[in-house]
Amino acid sequence: MRELLDFSPAELADFFASIGEPKYRARQVFEWAWQHLIWDFSRMTNLPEFLRERLAEEFAIGTATPGATLMDAEEGTEKLLLKLPDGAAIETVLMREGARRTVCISTQAGCPVGCTFCATGKSGFHRDLSAGEIALQVLFFARKLKAEGERVTHVVLMGMGEPLLNYKATLKAIRNLNHPWGLNLGARRFTVSTVGIVPGILRLAREGIQFNLAISLHAPYDDLRAELVPLARKYTIRQVITATEEYVAATKRRITYEYVLLYGVNDGIAEARALAKLLRGCLAHVNLIPFNPAPGLPYRRPPLSRVEAFKRELLKRGIDATVRYSRGVRIQAGCGQLRAAHLDAMSR
Ligand code: SAH
Ligand code: SF4
Repeated sequence: MRELLDFSPAELADFFASIGEPKYRARQVFEWAWQHLIWDFSRMTNLPEFLRERLAEEFAIGTATPGATLMDAEEGTEKLLLKLPDGAAIETVLMREGARRTVCISTQAGCPVGCTFCATGKSGFHRDLSAGEIALQVLFFARKLKAEGERVTHVVLMGMGEPLLNYKATLKAIRNLNHPWGLNLGARRFTVSTVGIVPGILRLAREGIQFNLAISLHAPYDDLRAELVPLARKYTIRQVITATEEYVAATKRRITYEYVLLYGVNDGIAEARALAKLLRGCLAHVNLIPFNPAPGLPYRRPPLSRVEAFKRELLKRGIDATVRYSRGVRIQAGCGQLRAAHLDAMSR
């Protein structure tokens, strides 16, 4: 059985052409699945009966089993555990902030980058997700919100995994979510967060779509960065920033640099100065994320005074900066916690 959500509109059109059906069937079926969020072929009432039966024989839709949801009602954050047919599990988080409804999605089960401060990175890599598996995380919450008369407004690729190491599937998922026959979410509603895979950033710059790009930098020096983000030693910080500047030139989008503050490791005034020097003249904004502790991670969160001093130093040097505390921490859905929470859920 094939997963219908793995198909783009053009691929669906090819499929219908191959069985001698008119091209407009692609639009009908895509709209059912992605816009009306109806995943039962027998309810696709504008299709002839024989075709509904044929589709049900060949395709499955949304092949993930929703497991437990955890909710932090006070904060408006909700975490959904999805089990995939092969036993892999992924987690997706919905954040409600004012009128914003942001879904934070995973692109891989586990992550091969191995950041030493990230619970996902520490627990290793399982596999890439398919385009359908990436997108259905958004669609599950879109369905839930629809029942409440609401919509998903933003998508951030900040769950488990490194999106630019699963480039094709990630881009396909975003393009399908962006498609006017589907949720029709504008490109600017997506934020791709990457650890700085240079060829991936350059490729993204050439796609001609204005996604928001977040670069997880975490250190102003190459040796320190290699320690914290092992796979990043392949590219120097300079190479990452140069590629990112190409992205800015192509899209005119302001970049967010993410910087996890680890007490006594990368949170000193000297690092703030070096970071400011690196980003001077860039169309950039720095998000400072005080470390979010998880079991087994060998770091501490810096005290507020140090966080504020780091931020002041950046501002003083003309670099825009904001402090962002992870949301979802109480339901183990904070940055870097998703995989750890999943392992915990599996052992229960
Ligand atoms: N792999 C991509 C996207 C997922 S991680 C990336 O690294 O950019 C999303 C963000 O969460 C990254 O900026 C990451 O550095 C941050 N993060 C991971 N573990 C964290 C932790 N323990 N505390 C705070 N932020 C963390
Ligand atoms: Fe992977 Fe991002 Fe975690 Fe690093 S921070 S291990 S890149 S998910």
